[in-house]
Amino acid sequence: MEALDELRNLFSARHDIVRDWKRQGKHVVGWASTYTPEEILYAASILPMRILGSPETAKLAHAYCPDNMCSFCRSCFDVALKGDYDYLDGFVTSASCDNREKMYDLWRHHVEIPYFYFINTPHTNTNTAHEFFYDELVRFRESLEKAFRTPISDQSLRKAVRIYNENRVLLKKLYNLRRKDPPLISGREALETVLSSMLTPKEVHSRLLTQLLKEIPQRDDPPTKGVRLLISGSVMDDAGLLEIVEATGGSVVADDLSTGSRYFWNSVDPTAESPLFAIARRYLDRVPCPFMGQSEDRFRHVQDMVKRYDVEGVIIFVLRFCDPHLFDAPLLKAELESSGLPVLYLEWEHAMTGFAQLRTRIEAFLEMIRGVG
Ligand code: SF4
Repeated sequence: MEALDELRNLFSARHDIVRDWKRQGKHVVGWASTYTPEEILYAASILPMRILGSPETAKLAHAYCPDNMCSFCRSCFDVALKGDYDYLDGFVTSASCDNREKMYDLWRHHVEIPYFYFINTPHTNTNTAHEFFYDELVRFRESLEKAFRTPISDQSLRKAVRIYNENRVLLKKLYNLRRKDPPLISGREALETVLSSMLTPKEVHSRLLTQLLKEIPQRDDPPTKGVRLLISGSVMDDAGLLEIVEATGGSVVADDLSTGSRYFWNSVDPTAESPLFAIARRYLDRVPCPFMGQSEDRFRHVQDMVKRYDVEGVIIFVLRFCDPHLFDAPLLKAELESSGLPVLYLEWEHAMTGFAQLRTRIEAFLEMIRGVG
């Protein structure tokens, strides 16, 4: 499928593609938390690009990072130290987990980027929190206007909201194709498509997604039937783990990942009088990440997905030292098991090692669901 190949390329060749974008005189700002309101950057004609790591061992970052830093943050920092993010005009993150906040300080001190901004995101979504976050976004907008010498009007925000919402709707349509048995798109393909959305101008991504949605029903290499699984857990910025799951007879049909459904599930209200206030609401009311302390809302999303995608088992992949997921995982596991769903809990490191052991445990889990053995 042509569109899928292009989307995959947008992900794998992201640094070269973004350098081309820069050569056209555009600005690029890296963001490190899905609570960064990309629409505001987009409204300033800036390409918002998610900071991701690399599957390689983070050798350079070891000298700066404490041993108990999550390996995703370590990997992202390592990529920056190598100079692969040398094209960034800015780096933005938001109050989320301790690791990410440490990462912000490390980048500020050791990576040469002209603009840094930290958004103070409240970890609740009460009315007061919405107002507080709105004020915070007003400050963010003013800071961008000053740094990039460009006004950000309500009209340009409304346009960005429309473009972002369109992409979210298309991604949901793509996820709907996973409800079929076998699904029409594999877990690996779905993850790479969402990842590419975080790195690409949204109009370009939506055009390719529209083409992909037309191509999929005609595809001559659909995924084979397998045990229908939902994957939950820490950020996943490489499809290696899903490849193992799908090669051992699993069929990843749904997810609860910040690089998956949690990224696009909720839209901004396009009819709101203040687009900035609507953006503030969307980010606080979205399917929460675990550091928000709203586990029940996230678990409800997982349970909804289990039903919607006819899930037979759940694998929770938690990165070592990812405290927010480490705290939540036992509760999620207990809740899913109490509703009769088999759950496998696995810890892993961002650098791709020790997979033989993971593979064995996944195989055993799938056999147990199939009733083999
Ligand atoms: S949520 Fe977990 S994986 Fe993500 S940055 Fe924080 S500690 Fe690392």
